[in-house]
Amino acid sequence: MLIQEKQQRNWKPIIKQFEAVVGKNGVVQRREELLTYECDGLTSYRQRPALVVLPRNTEQVAAVVKICDQNQIPWVARGAGTGLSGGALPVEDCVLIVTALMKQILDVDLENQRIVVQPGVINNWVTQAVSGAGFYYAPDPSSQIICSIGGNVAENSGGVHCLKYGVTTNHVMGLKLVIPDGSIVEVGGQVPEMPGYDLTGLFVGSEGTLGIATEITLRILKTPESICVLLADFNSIEDAGAAVADIISAGIIPGGMEMMDNLSINAVEDVVATGCYPRDAVAILLIELDGLEVEVATNKHRVADICKQNGARNITTASDPETRYKLWKGRKAAFAAAGHLSPDYFVQDGVIPRTQLVGVLQEIEELSQKYGYAIANVFHAGDGNLHPLILYDNAVPGALEKVEELGGEILRLCVKVGGSISGEHGIGSDKKCFMPDMFSEADLETMQWVRQVFNPKGLANPGKIFPTPRTCGEAANAQNGKQFESVERF
Ligand SMILES: Cc1cc2nc3c(=O)[nH]c(=O)nc-3n(C[C@H](O)[C@H](O)[C@H](O)COP(=O)(O)OP(=O)(O)OC[C@H]3O[C@@H](n4cnc5c(N)ncnc54)[C@H](O)[C@@H]3O)c2cc1C
Repeated sequence: MLIQEKQQRNWKPIIKQFEAVVGKNGVVQRREELLTYECDGLTSYRQRPALVVLPRNTEQVAAVVKICDQNQIPWVARGAGTGLSGGALPVEDCVLIVTALMKQILDVDLENQRIVVQPGVINNWVTQAVSGAGFYYAPDPSSQIICSIGGNVAENSGGVHCLKYGVTTNHVMGLKLVIPDGSIVEVGGQVPEMPGYDLTGLFVGSEGTLGIATEITLRILKTPESICVLLADFNSIEDAGAAVADIISAGIIPGGMEMMDNLSINAVEDVVATGCYPRDAVAILLIELDGLEVEVATNKHRVADICKQNGARNITTASDPETRYKLWKGRKAAFAAAGHLSPDYFVQDGVIPRTQLVGVLQEIEELSQKYGYAIANVFHAGDGNLHPLILYDNAVPGALEKVEELGGEILRLCVKVGGSISGEHGIGSDKKCFMPDMFSEADLETMQWVRQVFNPKGLANPGKIFPTPRTCGEAANAQNGKQFESVERF
């Protein structure tokens, strides 16, 4: 059955236009095939798109966006669909433009330490493409074996190694974009600093609301001479938190510094069985040091001493790739492992100043008890980016609403202590209600102006990021009396 039978719009001629651009195989229109695309990693919200279109290059993306523009069709870009804030959630009657067939590495320039990729290239492939020559791509979300570079750019994704090396925006040199009227635009370039407005910086993190990135020039880094991973286990969160603060205060910036609590440790050991994470520890820290051999050798001892001074019970050190991988394996699988603790979990993503870590974790524990839902904590401790995983059962009526309320309280707590409502997962559909908690009317208005300049008809990813016009529940991107914000909730 074709979806057109259900929609008021006559899709037949539009489908023909899309097929002329991407071929018959590049247009998905069957109801059962469209089900795959009805949500991203935030599975509690679902909306089937009217159509999915799969372009292969910039010109095809431009032609598809032009057809949408001419026919007033809202569209949403989608990479791998691993986003956790509902950024790639379709809106009713929209075309989903999926970059899954845009998987080419277009140019590798080792001498100038840059690589040009299509947006559907998977994060991990970038490092794989250059690691033989001694290079790597630093931003490494835990989803790096499945998420796309286009999605990383749109979300300004972070990862374990972003403490020392910065998030995606620090590694994007230039972009080829298709903006919402279908024009092809280039921003940034092949050299680090370009004159004029920093439109590359503006686009990174814009969550698909300003256009579609179709070619991305990334900075690649030399693989460090030496890498060492330390695992320290603690009897209390306070001690682990104090060790984090002391390591940074000592002027040591680890490549990554991650914390996991007892619930996460046991979930990971149940599922991945690393055998490295002590099940009775209240918290563990995973600390990766990298750089010159002499620097790593010295800092390894300094970090171990700081951990011991803060009550660490045991410290395991690994320099060989195999053991390092084993130590990291559990952390990288932590979200997936949480799926074994309860039928469902809700990942929150907020940032707090590092110094507030202990107090905020205590308050999260109090909220957990108040609401009656267990919360596992696994997070980027070095940069204060928390990921409380709220465990619940979606089959219980009203559970999701309560969990969302609890998640909201955690975000407001982050803002109260001087932090932010998102560290790396973006705002999407999920957190737009909280934008006024962080930004003033004038701040939000200014952001909306920018969006309007790129996206005057409101067709690109409508209803995301902003609680348009001002508060939740009001019409998002209302246009010509039509509201593009109707999603089913499961
Ligand atoms: C298990 C798990 C672990 C995760 N760990 C991390 C982590 O450590 N750090 C982190 O930052 N995130 C993490 N994430 C979240 C997610 O993987 C990232 O946000 C990722 O960047 C999304 O990429 P994607 O290709 O799946 O994008 P999608 O989910 O498909 O899309 C995300 C957003 O990008 C837009 N978009 C996609 N492609 C383009 C494009 N070419 N041009 C313009 N806009 C586009 C979409 O419209 C949407 O708004 C995790 C997710 C999971 C499921």
